[in-house]
Amino acid sequence: MRLNIGVIKGDGIGPEIVTEAMKVLDKTGEVYGHECIYTQLLMGGASIDVHGVPLTDETIEAAKASDAVLMGSIGGDAKTSPWYQLEPSKRPEAGLLKIRKELNLFANLRPAVLYDELKGACPLKEEITDGGFDMMIMRELTGGLYFGERKTVEVDGVMTATDELTYNENEIRRIAKRGFDIAMKRRKKVTSVDKANVLDSSRLWRKVVEEVAADYPEVTLENMLVDNCAMQLVKDPRQFDVILTENMFGDILSDEASMVTGSIGMLASASLNETKFGLYEPSGGSAPDIAGKGIANPIATILSAAMMLRFSFDLDQEAEAIENAVSQVLKDGYRTIDIMSEGKTQISTSEMGDRICSYIHL
Ligand code: NAD
Repeated sequence: MRLNIGVIKGDGIGPEIVTEAMKVLDKTGEVYGHECIYTQLLMGGASIDVHGVPLTDETIEAAKASDAVLMGSIGGDAKTSPWYQLEPSKRPEAGLLKIRKELNLFANLRPAVLYDELKGACPLKEEITDGGFDMMIMRELTGGLYFGERKTVEVDGVMTATDELTYNENEIRRIAKRGFDIAMKRRKKVTSVDKANVLDSSRLWRKVVEEVAADYPEVTLENMLVDNCAMQLVKDPRQFDVILTENMFGDILSDEASMVTGSIGMLASASLNETKFGLYEPSGGSAPDIAGKGIANPIATILSAAMMLRFSFDLDQEAEAIENAVSQVLKDGYRTIDIMSEGKTQISTSEMGDRICSYIHL
């Protein structure tokens, strides 16, 4: 099997962490008999330096021609980088918004996993998190409040601002199906989060999600109000498998869920469209403060590559091999500086990649 992967190394630590993820993908290919063909693409600051814009039409076309895209992070230090002297639509982050829109990436997946070995980084009490937790936040990414009409008007000297929140049943159905499909590959539970006691858009959300659930009898569906969900995430995060929610609620809850893991360098993410195509990237940014030092944690990007194998290529066994290798490296006490603790062995970005490769086997 040949996997055509577009690679956007990006800015800051991006090139360092993506190089390690490619190393791990190549090792997995060697062991399981598939070949990764990479097409290097420029985006963000790296694209501004060469083309004067953060994303060219050629890059978009090349991304569309790939089966999936693996990306580092983009952007620089807003105070010192010349990229931020440009007008907002020409800055690195504009490329990110544009590529998501061009590729119609409507489903954002952010796993929040607390490994037992890293429980010291979790800000919650030990009795709440004993044994770790493993949830997937599934956020609708192209509808809702952030894409509604907005206006600010002054009437009789009083300023009034309006933002519209709209969802149609098709938008809800496609993300719900994705959520249930993913739950089928996990512990078969979906918690759909809404505000159905107040909002019409949430009542439609709940109705459509319940209709979709009828096609997945093996999956347990639970409806939860967003305010309760925000509390439950810190009260008992182990109860969650897949959290399925709309754009703004997902924006807030996914950040809350990632904070309770305590380790930004460990958190993967994926954005998917209606086909098998996806864009896979770490949840963190380009960390300009540590770029070029060889100390960045590559695990979030490596786990994003594992998500790519699972969701874009249906290579579940290979994805699991990578996830198990990451767990094993942590169990054996190897750490990059961001997750370092007493008694453990500190290693560099590339040593972490090498260690993970050494644990990948049939
Ligand atoms: P950041 O996530 O880059 O950094 C926050 C802190 O976490 C820093 O101390 C950094 O050193 C640390 N960190 C992040 N990833 C790490 C890793 N893999 N290993 C070890 N430590 C890590 O957030 P920021 O400083 O707010 O943003 C820096 C730049 O990244 C900005 O230009 C921002 O716009 C951009 N950004 C890009 C994306 C993206 O590409 N999707 C997302 C967020 C931020």
